Amino acid sequence: MNCKYHTHEKAQWYCHQCDISFCVNCCDIHEREIAPRCLLCRTHLESYGVSDKVTPFWNKLSEFNKYPWQKNAYNFLLTYMGIAFVIGLITDFIPIMMIQLLLLLALYSIGIGYVFTVLTRTARGKFDAPSYDEALTFNSDSMTGKVIGLFLTIIGIGFIGYHIFGSGFILPYIAVVSFANPAMLIILAMEKHVTSAINPARIASCVKAIGWPYLLLFGFSFLIDTGLEFAQSQLHFWLPQSIAYPMLFAALAYFYIVKFSMFGYVAFQYHNELGYGIDAENLLDNDSESALEKRLMAKADVYIQEGRFEDAEDVLYDLAQDKKHTVKALERLVRLNIVRQNPAGAIKAANNYFQNPNLSGIGVEAVRLYQEIVAYEPHFRPMNAMARSVLINQMKHKRYLEDVNKLTSISEKMQNDVNLPWLMLSRAKFESEVMNDDAKALGMVNKLLSKYPRGSHQREAEQLRQVCQSMQQKAPSA
Ligand SMILES: [Zn+2]
Ligand SMILES: [Zn+2]
Repeated sequence: MNCKYHTHEKAQWYCHQCDISFCVNCCDIHEREIAPRCLLCRTHLESYGVSDKVTPFWNKLSEFNKYPWQKNAYNFLLTYMGIAFVIGLITDFIPIMMIQLLLLLALYSIGIGYVFTVLTRTARGKFDAPSYDEALTFNSDSMTGKVIGLFLTIIGIGFIGYHIFGSGFILPYIAVVSFANPAMLIILAMEKHVTSAINPARIASCVKAIGWPYLLLFGFSFLIDTGLEFAQSQLHFWLPQSIAYPMLFAALAYFYIVKFSMFGYVAFQYHNELGYGIDAENLLDNDSESALEKRLMAKADVYIQEGRFEDAEDVLYDLAQDKKHTVKALERLVRLNIVRQNPAGAIKAANNYFQNPNLSGIGVEAVRLYQEIVAYEPHFRPMNAMARSVLINQMKHKRYLEDVNKLTSISEKMQNDVNLPWLMLSRAKFESEVMNDDAKALGMVNKLLSKYPRGSHQREAEQLRQVCQSMQQKAPSA
């Protein structure tokens, strides 16, 4: 099934109320809400789940084991071992507790950043390992802080429980926490809030969403941890730190990559039951500008196709607020209003568009849009000299003569525009370069230089005058 509004995109969500399927860009995803909302009626959307369509995680164990052997993961492990070796050396030689702790923290932080990237990436259905660089840009620092926050909270609750209920509290508490551990890590990775990861109701809903297979997940995770603990105790006991560190941390990273790729896959398999859109999380921490633009444009599409033009305009003006998207959003607004037969709206958007100070960078598009507007509203002209000058500079053909004339006729309001000399210069250039009328161009440049002798335009204007003069001198002899 494909999106109703973007027929090339796979539908990811469904609205019962409206009976419409939406693609991932077509819905409102808010950070606080896990399920997106329908743009048209605001009810929560249902995901087209995949848990019955993909291989269940318990049949993929061998693949999780292979995960660390992918090139990217393998390279990460080697780099990580190298770093651990250096840090091990330093701690062997500098017996200062504080420095040792900080270095250890750094080492853990790199590992945590990587494995959480593995989890969130797998949860999106991407099964190739991230590279070291990708994992580092994941903002491993804040994730480390959250992991520490999670464990401190767990220890704190244990401490309080011990004081209230006595020593009988400890063992059951450890049992509950280790049972909840996979759920907590998945929630922390996907929602990025320690408060959700520690929330018993959220943990319970996560366990319930996965169902009985959660026992398997817990079992596998428990086995990995036990194996790791054993390895840890052996290595630490026998070896100096510069040797023990790389081996220890490589083993730790290896098994955690296996474990987190499994957690990620579980989040992927049960994303619907867990309430995660496969891409919802992706969109949340993905602040890539083009993704944002794509989403807002997609929303505008929905409203336009539904005939809700005011809503579409709101979305587009929202997008235009951000300087990086102003051009595209305003372009879209102009075209939307032309289609709607709303001249006031078209001209308002067009005036905003032509006020862009960087218009010269998008001259070709500007001319195209200008022509579309003029075809619809023949009296339209940008109300600033710089925009007109940019347009004329792009009009490199004789057929534009009428447009150029129109753009050069100045209204009262523009008499004091500081960029007027540039407009006159563009006009003169057009005469010389396109119309080949150097006499006329020369007249214009002379007029320009007598009226505005100084300014940033001066050099270019004088150059043009020289060219025109030399061309004129040649002309009679030719
Ligand atoms: Zn769509
Ligand atoms: Zn709806």
